[in-house]
Amino acid sequence: MSTKKFILQENDIPHAWYNIVADMKNKPMPMLNPKTKKPVTVEDMEPLFARALAEQELNTTDEWIEIPEQVRDLYKIWRPTPLVRATGLEKALDTPAHIYFKNESVSPVGSHKLNSALAQAYYCKKEGCTNITTETGAGQWGAALSMAAKIFGLELAVYMVKVSYHQKPYRRSIMQTFGAQVVASPSMSTKAGRQIITNSPNNQGSLGTAISEAVELALQTPNCKYVLGSVMNQVSLHQTVIGLEAEKQMEMAGEYPDTVIACFGGGSNFSGIAFPFLRHKILEGKEIRTIAAEPASCPKLTKGRFQYDYGDEAGYTPLIPMFTLGHNFMPSNIHAGGLRYHGAGSIVSQLMKDGLMEAADVKQLEAFDAATLFARCEGIIPAPESSHAIAVTIREALKAKEAGEKKVLLFNLSGHGLIDMTAYDSYLAGDLTNGEVTDEEIEKNLEDVSDLKI
Ligand SMILES: *Cc1c(COP(=O)(O)O)cnc(C)c1O
Repeated sequence: MSTKKFILQENDIPHAWYNIVADMKNKPMPMLNPKTKKPVTVEDMEPLFARALAEQELNTTDEWIEIPEQVRDLYKIWRPTPLVRATGLEKALDTPAHIYFKNESVSPVGSHKLNSALAQAYYCKKEGCTNITTETGAGQWGAALSMAAKIFGLELAVYMVKVSYHQKPYRRSIMQTFGAQVVASPSMSTKAGRQIITNSPNNQGSLGTAISEAVELALQTPNCKYVLGSVMNQVSLHQTVIGLEAEKQMEMAGEYPDTVIACFGGGSNFSGIAFPFLRHKILEGKEIRTIAAEPASCPKLTKGRFQYDYGDEAGYTPLIPMFTLGHNFMPSNIHAGGLRYHGAGSIVSQLMKDGLMEAADVKQLEAFDAATLFARCEGIIPAPESSHAIAVTIREALKAKEAGEKKVLLFNLSGHGLIDMTAYDSYLAGDLTNGEVTDEEIEKNLEDVSDLKI
């Protein structure tokens, strides 16, 4: 009988995160201070971020960054995560492809987000903060950070995108159970929120807006830092534990992936699984494809433009060189809340520009078709976000079948969907729409940021 899952021991948890920037021939362009238009320095970042995290953000030279022992110890709560051969899915698709997935859904909060939440809370505590603020979309990041904040004794305020606050009430309950304070965004508690509510009273929020609110609160609160669940280089860095473990596990399986696939919001779980494999491509010329799966209704990689843009709606963050739809882009209310973000992190954007990775867009109905098939074959109900990766994996597996090729596919199951059952209800009732966006809308949004073109 073939092996179903590949299990590592606790002492196999990586001792260092992998910093791909050190190996990239074309480094990402610098983030710019919006006032001076000069490259951002650690000192610029310090009012908002813990110093160690600011240093990681701007580190372009160290290939490996040691994981603090206390963080590695906390990783043991659920890491190493299993690598699973999706034998049920292979059979259902009748494909010669071998399909593997890294199961990040086994984390206590149900997603990969805890990999970075624990690291960021650790550094904030170590540097003497008492409070932290953040934003959350579907609530996955907020849930992870709430747990991490409690472990390190930090007070946390979370701005949760309003549409998700109502669609996913149990994620709010999880955050509150861990002791966090949760505010629906846009809110009246910040200048950025008040401005948006005044202009459009029914605004359902976006990650960009929630970031503006969290940043504003952090800047006005003593001993308070802001932390972010995606997009930043430091977050991609922390997530590389996913791919570093998967590398060992693929070796145990006696295979090497032809294609690595992950869903894409700001890029952190994609980076996490893909960067350690891209390392072989960059350093050894290994042939490997990596595909970011994004929603067709928020297609920054497939239809956005590479240019400088703000990370948030109000324009408080540094200017980031990114594939973007424009920071005012208001994505439709798809259930994959974690993928409703206008831009991509600077590292992935550079890799995309240099042709080192690919992107594919997936409509909401295709994502849920894939999710349901996966659930019925593998017994795990995937997060709506992760379902985009499953959809692209299925496309690749069917292509392999057509070509009669034995491809090895690896995708990241970034989270489970057990708290997203209203989304499944709506799919099963036939009420789900694709929530697309037209090229004209994208064009119009990009016009608003044409002054930031490179
Ligand atoms: C947040 C989230 C994502 C998207 O964020 P990335 O930074 O692109 O990884 C994907 N899947 C799940 C389950 C999430 O919670």
